[in-house]
Amino acid sequence: MKVQGQCHCGAIAFEADVEPGSMTVCHCTDCQTHSGSAFRANISAPAASFRLLKGEPRTYVKTAASGNQRVLAFCAHCGSPLYACATQEPTAYSLRIGTLRQRHELGPPQRQIWAQRRLAWVALPPDVEAFEGQP
Ligand SMILES: [Zn+2]
Ligand SMILES: [Zn+2]
Repeated sequence: MKVQGQCHCGAIAFEADVEPGSMTVCHCTDCQTHSGSAFRANISAPAASFRLLKGEPRTYVKTAASGNQRVLAFCAHCGSPLYACATQEPTAYSLRIGTLRQRHELGPPQRQIWAQRRLAWVALPPDVEAFEGQP
């Protein structure tokens, strides 16, 4: 399914192909901090399908506790988080659900990861598979 995304101020716009029903919710501490929220919801798009339509995101390279590095892309003007990808030759972009125009059509999430860090009041449907850490 083709999706269109943009940041809050509209400086950056993109499109990509995603599989509805393949969303992941991440409860890890990094996602809570970087999103400024209780958790982050992502959907993966093949890199070949991703096209920047407008603007150039700013990037921040995050080093996880495992040493794994990820590029986090965001709008330098309004700060909206846009996607994450590998530092070298990414094969996929992890799109932030809240930036996608079709976000209402993509859920519910297929799985939740880092479930042990989930805030106690966050309740997802019971059939959303939960993983401790990154499967
Ligand atoms: Zn913006
Ligand atoms: Zn996370």
